[in-house]
Amino acid sequence: MIKYNLKCSNNHEFESWFADSSEFEKLNKQKLLECIYCPSKKIKKSIMAPMLLAANKDRENIQKIDKIFRKDKDNLIKIRNYIEKNFEFVGKNFSQKVREVYYDKKNNKKIYGTTTPKERKELAEEGIDLVSIPWIEKDN
Ligand SMILES: [Zn+2]
Repeated sequence: MIKYNLKCSNNHEFESWFADSSEFEKLNKQKLLECIYCPSKKIKKSIMAPMLLAANKDRENIQKIDKIFRKDKDNLIKIRNYIEKNFEFVGKNFSQKVREVYYDKKNNKKIYGTTTPKERKELAEEGIDLVSIPWIEKDN
């Protein structure tokens, strides 16, 4: 399963899950995707930006890579590979898992996943600082 941030022709943004990237392309081509806020069927995919909780050292590394290579696709793939290799994907459970790791001093697990804007705000209010990273499709 993969989650995409989608945008309609009226600039409404929403999220949706697909089996894989080809399922999205297929449904979109057949005009089977519709905005959840308006009748628009012109849906575009915006880059998915997963959140991650990282120890200071990783954080600095990622931010460094991110800053230097933000516009460079090959390097965005490197970031993605780095995250996939070093972090555990927890998907939609991210905000729950992040608290487990954050409040347990002995737990140094590195995780990444997705949040809703509401969850992200709640985590920020608790002082849990997260990194949002650019995410890129490897197969296009
Ligand atoms: Zn719309």
